[in-house]
Amino acid sequence: MNVILLGAPGAGKGTQATRISSRYNLPHISTGDIFRANIKNQTEIGVLAKSYIDKGQLVPDEVTCKIVENRLIEKDCENGYLLDGFPRTIAQAEVLEKFSKVDCVINIDIDFSFLMERLCGRRVCKNCGESYHVSTLNGKTSCEKCGGELYQRKDDNPETVQSRLNVYENQTAPLIDYYTRKGIIVNVAGAGTPEEVFALIVKALDSIK
Ligand code: ADP
Ligand code: ZN
Repeated sequence: MNVILLGAPGAGKGTQATRISSRYNLPHISTGDIFRANIKNQTEIGVLAKSYIDKGQLVPDEVTCKIVENRLIEKDCENGYLLDGFPRTIAQAEVLEKFSKVDCVINIDIDFSFLMERLCGRRVCKNCGESYHVSTLNGKTSCEKCGGELYQRKDDNPETVQSRLNVYENQTAPLIDYYTRKGIIVNVAGAGTPEEVFALIVKALDSIK
């Protein structure tokens, strides 16, 4: 089963991706995580990606598409994959179609007014990638799951978040129509608790499995 997770920044894609990946045994492929790993290791791709990510812009399609194409031919993707954060433009979706067939697109639908607060208050585990929100951490600075140190992503500041939301609206949201026309999208309400949202996703995926 080849699955795409679509949704605005802060819609909860990462949180749901972890759950989906373990329940359906699909490798979780997050282009954002791949870029951040490259930035950390100061690779050529990392240096290039950083210049865009820090401004809240998209990394150029050619670079991003090549990374995904190379990743999807790895052995663990043989029985399916879960793409998180890709495609993010119509052009990326068209390239993806050339090398893979998507079975289902889960669109996490959420009111824009939630997102600024969610993203600016987000803290992420350095070790396992789990996301938290300052409002529920009660001052804790380590991950409940693995004890790793929590940090704030450099692009989770008001100015960069605003530009990520604009980019989403202009370049990524058109994918909703694109996949609706193909008849493979399921819209899931993203306003509930992580458990509630996950239950909706499971219902959708179980019906196509
Ligand atoms: P979020 O969904 O919270 O914005 P991600 O971790 O998915 O965060 O992505 C962080 C940044 O990485 C994006 O703002 C963008 O600059 C870059 N990025 C991730 N995926 C893509 C993609 N498919 N195409 C271009 N840039 C991307
Ligand atoms: Zn952790």
